[in-house]
Amino acid sequence: MNLKLLITILLMSLSVTAQTNKPSRSMAVTFDDLPYVGLDGTDLQRAQRATKKILRVLRARRVPVVAFVNEGNLQVAGEVDARIALLQQWVDAGMILGNHTYSHPDLNSLTIQQFQDEIIRGEIVTRRLMESHQPYQLYFRHPYTHTGDTQAKKEAIKEFLAARGYKITPHTIDGQDFVFNKGYVRALRNKDKATARRLREAYVEFTIAATEFAERFSPRIFGREITQTLLVHANDINADSLDGLLSRLAARGYSFVTLDEAMSDPAYQTKDTVVSRYGPTWLWRWMESKGMNVGLKGDPEPDQWVIDLHKQR
Ligand SMILES: [Zn+2]
Repeated sequence: MNLKLLITILLMSLSVTAQTNKPSRSMAVTFDDLPYVGLDGTDLQRAQRATKKILRVLRARRVPVVAFVNEGNLQVAGEVDARIALLQQWVDAGMILGNHTYSHPDLNSLTIQQFQDEIIRGEIVTRRLMESHQPYQLYFRHPYTHTGDTQAKKEAIKEFLAARGYKITPHTIDGQDFVFNKGYVRALRNKDKATARRLREAYVEFTIAATEFAERFSPRIFGREITQTLLVHANDINADSLDGLLSRLAARGYSFVTLDEAMSDPAYQTKDTVVSRYGPTWLWRWMESKGMNVGLKGDPEPDQWVIDLHKQR
């Protein structure tokens, strides 16, 4: 046997080993709070930078995304067209825009009627921008993932959404990027590179820890790992960390699927009967709805120094 052939065989067997050792996992990625969420919501240049960077990464890695819009955040004097242009970039990149209400209110403090108005007002621009993509599945995500603090609210909004063609969007992994992002934007503004880097690294590590938790937790409910759905926001920390984060997830065996594909995982047919003031992940809701108690030990929380930076004014 010549050396070249031997090396080829060795390399082939190595790649087979690598493939079999890496589990095959899938994940849908969803973005909230489009067009952009910053410290005060008025920084158009930062919004343009973040949008460009996020979409460049998603395109390069071929990650299909459903991204949820708050149309109220388009209404900034002198910037309306420029802000709609940010959404157009998502559409041009092949992403699906979803409805996240007009002004991101908390369902806990609204009546059914008020929340229904928020849904209707929240779909006007996005539906127009998505005309070229017809037909597509309409998705809705509740702000704070608060899906109803009373049975009546939860049921009424669920029926209202279904009648308008919307599916409610679950998530199984919350990287809590908003907790990291405030301190991050401040560090960028102060040109504090060390803190910015520390926050980026901590954010990626935290999201990986939250992913590991979901990987351990879902088999206790469904007897297997399910397709995960990650919730992140259109913000600066994702603009600057997303490539590294997606690379880490790919190394864990994840391929990135559409939300439609994730929703076709039978686990996602499980009813969510939880009535709560809070917005837990769907893993927890499905566990509760099935009347199971598989324990939540090990659900990670961001480090105290991150929370302290988040709370600083
Ligand atoms: Zn939101």
